[in-house]
Amino acid sequence: MKTVNHWIDGKSVEGGSGTYGPVTDPATGAVTTRVAFASVEEVDAAVAAAKAAYATWGGSSLAARTSVLFRYRALLDAHRDELAALITAEHGKVHSDALGEVARGLEIVELACGITTQLKGELSTQVASRVDVASIRQPLGVVAGITPFNFPAMVPMWMFPLAIACGNTFVLKPSEKDPSPAIRLAELAAEAGLPDGVLNVVNGDRTAVDRLLEHPDVAAVSFVGSTPIARHIHTTATAHGKRVQALGGAKNHMLVLPDADLDAAADAAVSAAYGSAGERCMAISAVVAVGGTGDELVAKIRERAEKIKIGPGDDPTSEMGPLITKAHRDKVASYVHDAAAQGAEVVLDGTGFTVAGYEDGHWIGLSLLDKVPTTADAYRDEIFGPVLCVLRVATYEEGVALINASPWGNGTAVFTRDGGAARRFQLEVEAGMVGVNVPIPVPVGYHSFGGWKHSLFGDHHIYGNDGVHFYTRGKVVTTRWPDPADGGVDLGFPHHR
Ligand code: NAD
Repeated sequence: MKTVNHWIDGKSVEGGSGTYGPVTDPATGAVTTRVAFASVEEVDAAVAAAKAAYATWGGSSLAARTSVLFRYRALLDAHRDELAALITAEHGKVHSDALGEVARGLEIVELACGITTQLKGELSTQVASRVDVASIRQPLGVVAGITPFNFPAMVPMWMFPLAIACGNTFVLKPSEKDPSPAIRLAELAAEAGLPDGVLNVVNGDRTAVDRLLEHPDVAAVSFVGSTPIARHIHTTATAHGKRVQALGGAKNHMLVLPDADLDAAADAAVSAAYGSAGERCMAISAVVAVGGTGDELVAKIRERAEKIKIGPGDDPTSEMGPLITKAHRDKVASYVHDAAAQGAEVVLDGTGFTVAGYEDGHWIGLSLLDKVPTTADAYRDEIFGPVLCVLRVATYEEGVALINASPWGNGTAVFTRDGGAARRFQLEVEAGMVGVNVPIPVPVGYHSFGGWKHSLFGDHHIYGNDGVHFYTRGKVVTTRWPDPADGGVDLGFPHHR
């Protein structure tokens, strides 16, 4: 069986604590790998390596940092297929989707290659006689990242490339369910010339996370995962004096207005609800049909959903793979089983589905629930599986009120041909990312990603300008090169003349 170790100070480090967790191939249900779970001492070793590396890396030139990042970008580009295969083997998503994940992660490496522009400061000359003021941004020190299972390469790449480009050093704690891509990312960074200790990976569970949240040498924590854990991370790490951005779960709504192109809306709903088996924080999980659109829209969604081919992620004909664990598959199925009793109409029931030859895989088919009441668990909870709820409302206003009543506010979308309605929606909806005829509005790398309400705890969105701000702190330098005429004692508060 393969073993996944830690990556500390530029080398693979075996788990000294002797505790391991199982990693499963979701398509076969077989345990293929064991992953080391870090003890407090192992986390401390990673933080110590990062702290020692910061002494040099924090003061290294922008040219030195970006030359490593450019080489890293080229290496990642050359290893896209290998990284995607690692993702599929442990996460289960289909290869084309895994390639998309690698591409979106690469975007942030490309952004980090341009850090020279992002880190340019501001200078005001002659604010008073012979006085200049410069605003500069400096790195924080050691930064920790804690990431979820559903994007085992992309979400780590949302964090560490920008953090290290800004001059920080990094300790990553990836999901214990699919840890191999993160280790490969660290190996490739070393191959690109990143000095030892700048990027470290500790594997493990809550023990490792809680140590990072409390460690006095960790200056900031980036987290992406479920809402309850995001809240715990934010509360605990801020109580220990750290800067924190903690991105949580979601329930993303797609509002379909009566004038929308219903074929385009149905294509978008099916792609966004069932892609990656619904295990995306930006998945559309609730379609809100306005006016009389419901019947026709549900029929079009059903027709498309019935044609989706489910199978192992490494089969190029598969469009949707299995879920991450058996327990998660059963939990997702329970929402579909309970839906009718809670007032929904079950149009498609994907439970009980299996793939011939892969009977122990974590399979579930596509489910479509119509006329779902807002009180049903399938609507109230983040299911994180291939279950799409359709809700019906009479008017645009009712639809927006329904969306705004949700405790989450990650992404949302409106489908319409009416520019005025789309503009109104952008301004009125309470969510961090809005799509107009775009169902999964994940911002490009040079804009920032983040939700509102229970989808994000902290003040900064991730990557883009917000990412640069999160991973740096401001300093303002006021300079005078005195002239003999400036002499003399003055006890007054300094003011500018
Ligand atoms: P999760 O919250 O269970 O785990 C995320 C990370 O936290 C993992 O590294 C895990 O080891 C760690 N963790 C789990 N329980 C912990 C605990 N009690 N104490 C400390 N650390 C703990 O999330 P997941 O199941 O891996 O990922 C799916 C979730 O992530 C979904 O809710 C999804 O919406 C969310 N997500 C959000 C975004 C976003 O950008 N907002 C992106 C991707 C995923």
